[in-house]
Amino acid sequence: MRFYAPKGTTDILPDMAKKWRYLERKASDLFEKYEYEPIVTPIFEHTDVFQRAIGTSTDIVQKEMYTFEDKGGRSLTLRPEGTAPVIRAYVDNNMNQMPQPVKLYYTGPMFRYERPQAGRYRQFFQLGVEAIGSDDPAIDAESILLMIDYFRSVGLKELTLYINSMGCENDRPKYVELLKQYAIAHEQELCKDCRKRVELNPLRLFDCKEESCRRVMEHAPKITDYLDEDCKNHFNAVRRYLDMQGVQYIIKPELVRGLDYYTKTTFEVVSPLLGAQNAIGGGGRYNKLVEEFGGPPTPGIGFAIGLERLTIAVEKEGAFVAMEEKTDAFIAVADKAVKEPAVNLLYALRGAGIATDIDYTGRSLKGQLKYANKKGFRYTIFLGPQELETGIVQVKDMKTSEQYAIKLNELVDWLSNIVKSQTMGSGVTKQS
Ligand code: AMP
Repeated sequence: MRFYAPKGTTDILPDMAKKWRYLERKASDLFEKYEYEPIVTPIFEHTDVFQRAIGTSTDIVQKEMYTFEDKGGRSLTLRPEGTAPVIRAYVDNNMNQMPQPVKLYYTGPMFRYERPQAGRYRQFFQLGVEAIGSDDPAIDAESILLMIDYFRSVGLKELTLYINSMGCENDRPKYVELLKQYAIAHEQELCKDCRKRVELNPLRLFDCKEESCRRVMEHAPKITDYLDEDCKNHFNAVRRYLDMQGVQYIIKPELVRGLDYYTKTTFEVVSPLLGAQNAIGGGGRYNKLVEEFGGPPTPGIGFAIGLERLTIAVEKEGAFVAMEEKTDAFIAVADKAVKEPAVNLLYALRGAGIATDIDYTGRSLKGQLKYANKKGFRYTIFLGPQELETGIVQVKDMKTSEQYAIKLNELVDWLSNIVKSQTMGSGVTKQS
């Protein structure tokens, strides 16, 4: 009997997981520079949380949620996205009483029952931020600029930023009615699902991937032509802030994104390095969501980035070379007789903060060296009876093949200095 990971999920093995940790670390460092703070919410929520926030006529709620009943008869859903849980937590924990805006970031798995393909999975990971409590267009720009800044910080160069305004309760109903009339006039050209959407929620027609529907929607009325004064001014202000920072963007009036909670600004970044699933991140403003969850009227804005797609793009850009080099050491034990002093040295090095390992399978010295090489340790320390006697060990830099004779009682300091100089970014200087 053999078991396989469920369809649409993958095991993230160490080589990939290290890249993920790097991307997550870069994200938290940068998000914290923009003064966002971490938040962790449950992986499952009451199903109503998503139905209410995302909207019952969206693809996510209609077909993609992992919904189940627990033993207490509650309907729960594995989170398909991160904004609704964060807003639920904001209201639940009276975070409106904290100084506003509350700026948060999160990372973790999301779940959607989608048809798996390259860049589209049933369990995928997102990095996201939310700024709750401000309707200032400057914070819309901050959200967009933070996403772009992050992509650049991990080495992505070729990106396209799309922005749009979806209007608000004052101008959207009029626009949606126009859109509906337009869709009714083209009903014959729409797919079965879209015909249902015409009555239910015409904005969702923009989500359809069917060629015929896309052709119809290309010529549909554009929301940007129907914005009221406030939404128009807001959008123009966001654009000015982006212009001030020299960020290029394309206005895409059909960018409605697949969730119902958006108001005013929406945005998305696509990478030309990806295939069909080329959106690596997207977000927007949600000025009604806090109220939906029973909180006081509170505007908010945020975005989410897909970690799998980001990894593919960074890989294609060849930008993982920028990952910090690891300074770690392997103790090659030349003789079983020195195993105990070798283990002592192992803990002395680890205690000094140096990643170190030793053989646990009884390999010969040659076998240990082969293992150290394969695993990519930076330094190999040779320890045998002779080294103990003379108090001098041989240390080989596996990258440069240089060999050093180091006094055993100075070894910890010697390696610590190398680690320190590396983390300070000054690189290793040759020592002897
Ligand atoms: P969304 O929550 O739909 O706005 O998606 C935000 C980002 O998450 C997208 O730009 C993708 O990078 C990523 N994403 C969304 N759905 C999936 C999926 N099924 N598999 C992998 N990544 C996804």
